[in-house]
Amino acid sequence: SGVRENLTYERFGGAIRDLAQTIADDGYEPDIVLSIARGGVFVAGGLAYALDCKNIHLVNVEFYTGVGTTLEMPVMLAPVPNAIDFSEKKVLIADDVADTGKTLKLVHDFCQGTVAEVRSAVIYEKSQSLVKCEYVWKRTDDWINFPWSVEPPVVRRENQVLDA
Ligand code: 5GP
Repeated sequence: SGVRENLTYERFGGAIRDLAQTIADDGYEPDIVLSIARGGVFVAGGLAYALDCKNIHLVNVEFYTGVGTTLEMPVMLAPVPNAIDFSEKKVLIADDVADTGKTLKLVHDFCQGTVAEVRSAVIYEKSQSLVKCEYVWKRTDDWINFPWSVEPPVVRRENQVLDA
């Protein structure tokens, strides 16, 4: 319960264009967009098209188990990307939200040392985040409803009985 920030698919489209424009205006031209699954996949796809970057990588991180309930620390799930792929590359990490910032920090630390440069882009950043992202569309401290996860997974329906 409490106040919610509601992102619709319609607002998401404009948010991604705005975020990409900010990145382009800043002169950052990533070689690779590294998405944090699953929410960051939507963000990474939109940013990669808008920034004309054809190289998307993906890392699976598990942290949240429900509204405001988390594991103790986020964990990278297999398959973990090969750091060799990022060597000397300009990487843009893409995620839906930096909340505690622990997820982004994990992925940021994973990149550090091997990449030429790494920056982060998120739709939302909360004030408590221990990572300050270079590119943020909107700041909020409310729980966010994302269009891809606001509804429960679909369940299989019974076969329709066809009338003769
Ligand atoms: P963090 O590690 O920054 O605390 O959280 C990262 C991940 O937790 C996000 O990528 C997202 O999947 C989930 N998360 C954190 N805050 C919210 C929120 O307000 N709403 C939703 N739907 N997911 C969130």
